[in-house]
Order: sequence, then C-alpha cells, then structure tokens
Amino acid sequence: MHITVLGAGVTGLTTAWYLARDGHQVEVVERNQGVALEASFANGAQLSYSYVAPLAGPGVLPKVPPWLLRRDAPLRFYPALDLQQWRWLLEFVLACNRGTSDLTTRRLLALSFYSRALMHQFVSEENIDFGYVRNGKLVLFSTGADFDGARRLLDFQRSLGCEQNALDRTQCIALEPLLGDPLSALGSRFVGGIHTVSEEVGDCYRFCQGLEIRLREMGVTFRFDTRVTRLETRGNRVTAIDTPAGSLPTDLCVMTLGAHSPILARPLGIRLPIYPLKGYSVTLPPQPGITALGISITDAMRKVVYAPLAGADGNSLRVAGMADIAGYSSEIEAVRVKQLFIEAERAFPAAADYTQGPDAMQPWAGLRPATPKGTPILGASPYDNLYLNSGHGALGWTLALGSARILADLIKGTVPEVPLDGFTLRG
Ligand SMILES: Cc1cc2nc3c(=O)[nH]c(=O)nc-3n(C[C@H](O)[C@H](O)[C@H](O)COP(=O)(O)OP(=O)(O)OC[C@H]3O[C@@H](n4cnc5c(N)ncnc54)[C@H](O)[C@@H]3O)c2cc1C
Repeated sequence: MHITVLGAGVTGLTTAWYLARDGHQVEVVERNQGVALEASFANGAQLSYSYVAPLAGPGVLPKVPPWLLRRDAPLRFYPALDLQQWRWLLEFVLACNRGTSDLTTRRLLALSFYSRALMHQFVSEENIDFGYVRNGKLVLFSTGADFDGARRLLDFQRSLGCEQNALDRTQCIALEPLLGDPLSALGSRFVGGIHTVSEEVGDCYRFCQGLEIRLREMGVTFRFDTRVTRLETRGNRVTAIDTPAGSLPTDLCVMTLGAHSPILARPLGIRLPIYPLKGYSVTLPPQPGITALGISITDAMRKVVYAPLAGADGNSLRVAGMADIAGYSSEIEAVRVKQLFIEAERAFPAAADYTQGPDAMQPWAGLRPATPKGTPILGASPYDNLYLNSGHGALGWTLALGSARILADLIKGTVPEVPLDGFTLRG
C-alpha cells in the first residue's frame, strides 16, 4: 500500500519507520527543507517516561492569575479573537481536576512505558548517535508544601510502575554536586527532590536526522519544500493531497502535522482539540574547563528543564521551558530567551560559559501541539483512509515510538499493545 505521512517531525518520522518496516511503500511530505525543523528541533531532550502528569492538574488554576501578572512567568497568555483558543482554554479548565488528571496520567504512563521499551529496542538494533543516555532525572522543589505534595504523589506513581525516590537536600547534592555550588540560586533555594533513576535524555533533532538516513535506505521517499494545502475527499475517503506543486495521489495518509494538524483537519469537518503552546530553549555549547551536569534537572518552581546533551566534543547544556498561549507564531521573542538564559545562569553558573550572552546560545522557539487533557489523538478518523497521530504536547519526543507503533498496528489490522481509551478522536 502507498502511504503518505504528512509532516516530518519526530511523530511523522517514527510513524514512517514502523510503516516501512511493515512493508508499506511510504512517502513523507514536509513543507520545510529538511526533517524536524519545527517542534522536534531543540526541545527539552527529556525522554520523560515517568513524568507524564498533564499540565491540567488540580493545583494549576490557582497559580494562573499570579503568573498572568508577571512578565517572566513560566506561562503567558495572549488573548486573541480566536474561537479555537477560547474553546481549548475552556476544555483545559474543565480538565483541571484530580479525577481527570489521574486518569490521564494512568493512560499516558501506559503509552510512555511502551515507548520506553521500543526506544530500548531501537537503540539496541540501530546505530544512530543522538546523545542518548540513561542518566536519570531529579525534579527539585522550592517550597515545603510543593515537596510534600510531590511526596504524596509518589505512592500513586509507584502503584503505576514508576521507580522514584524522595531525596533531601544532602542526597540531591550528592547526586548532582553542582547543586552545592554556593553561587547557585537554585542550589540555595530547593528543599528536596524526586529522583527517577530510569529517565533518559537524547537529542531529538539528531535522532530525526539519523532516522531520515535509515528511512531512505529502506526506500522511504521524502518530498520536502512541499506544503500541503488541502486534502481532497470523495465520500468517506481521502483521494489526493493538494500542494502548490500539484496533487499527490494516496492510498492512505497519516496526519502528523503537530500543532498544525487542526488547520488541515478542519475543512474535512474534523475538529482536533489541539492548540499551540509555545516554548523556548537555549543550548549552551561545551566549553573547556566547565563542569557539565551529570543528570537531568527540572526546576519545578520555575518550570525549566536542564539536560546534559552528549556530543562529539563534550556535553552541551539544553535549557528549555515556558508555555506561551500565543497563537501559531514561532517567532523567537528576545525577552523570553533572555529570561531563560538568566534563569540558567543563576541556577547553574558553573555549568556553562555565559559570557557571550543569549544570542550565542542557539535560541529557539517551538510550538507544542497541546490537547486540553494532555493525551495525544491516535488512530482512525471519520475518513476510512485517514489516520491521526498528533497532539503530544510536551511529551512528543517521549511518546513518539509508542504512538507510531500503535498507528502502524492499527493500519495493519493488529490490536495495539496499549489500549486506545482516551487517545482516540472521540476521547
Ligand atoms: C520548548 C519545548 C520543549 C520540549 N521538551 C520536550 C521534552 O523534553 N521531551 C518531550 O518528550 N517533548 C518535548 N517537547 C514536545 C515535543 O518537542 C513535541 O511534542 C514534538 O516535537 C511534536 O512532534 P510532531 O512531529 O508531532 O510535530 P512537529 O515536530 O512540529 O512536526 C510537524 C511537521 O509538520 C510540518 N507541517 C505543518 N504543516 C504542514 C503543511 N501544511 N504541509 C506540510 N508540512 C507541514 C511541519 O513543518 C513540521 O515539520 C518540547 C516542546 C517544546 C516546544
């Protein structure tokens, strides 16, 4: 069967990977000139298999008003005359309760553990260097109340198979000596942390670049610089994919357009509850004489993640965070980059060379394809030969392989290994 994968982010490429392995003839259509140049480019690098709790949690709403008043808040809202934005926000607010959040966490953990097993299989079979390492993750809390709350969640997380431990300050510093640096603002303010030994990191972009080479070797073709403008349909089938260069015939297509999926789905009468949550990263290059972080760190108060990324010439430091509800522009706002840079410099002054300022730090912004509840949308659509794999929010790198295998299984007619409850278009 000739299958067209729309979009060459990490979701599209992993989908193409399993489809090609299942023997299909696959073509990937992408508007950019290469793979993974949008949300999958310089994300937080975390393969965060145990930290999947959705943003829509029971404690989030009270924090929102103070955040909205601060210019340097981790979450910023730019109201627009956009029905999709307001509808998404309403559904988000309705999802901010313990019952929905626990159910979503349960479902996402099943998908993330499956993705982890597939990642382990992938790295044991394929020789792609993407700085992949299992170095664990430490989430740090800065108030006693927040740390107590995290400790209370441990039992719930453990009951679902997460291996996590609560550590006091001394134990955290023993694990990551840079936290003992007297000049570290994060080091002086945190009260304790949750350590997950099984978490991993990897550079999503390098993974995608390596995967593209493997896909080409397997006969997958790429049509870059090709914007999909419309899907042509007849009855309940997609018959062709319209692009400025002409119309492409297809037997079946999979929509993996990230935050842009709703734009092409809408004219087909499909409402995808996906809205962009813009985030930022800076990447501090390796420097001689700099002590790299040994473990991934999340500053829970500031909502910033720090990941050491192994490369040929040493470890760079990827710093990512912020969630701006600001429409579809991925323009890099200098003020947000500067905030992230200052945050990193204060948190880990000895872990990088900050003398050249934010512009030398490879600033980047990307759009997380977020659903209100935090669950991606996988599987069938109202059209017999159109499948969906979109809406992975802040976890698209983590969940890529599992979501892709599920999609390929559905197309093959095999029952997926993870139940689809909560992941389908109908919820
Ligand atoms: C700051 C930040 C930090 C993050 N950190 C992490 C993390 O640590 N761990 C994690 O698991 N996830 C993280 N994420 C989330 C993760 O990066 C995304 O969920 C993931 O990259 C989404 O992949 P995707 O392939 O679905 O979308 P994308 O990578 O955006 O790919 C969609 C592709 O579709 C193409 N496209 C769109 N419209 C068209 C069209 N009309 N025609 C043709 N092509 C089109 C785009 O050009 C793009 O290449 C982070 C995201 C951000 C922004």
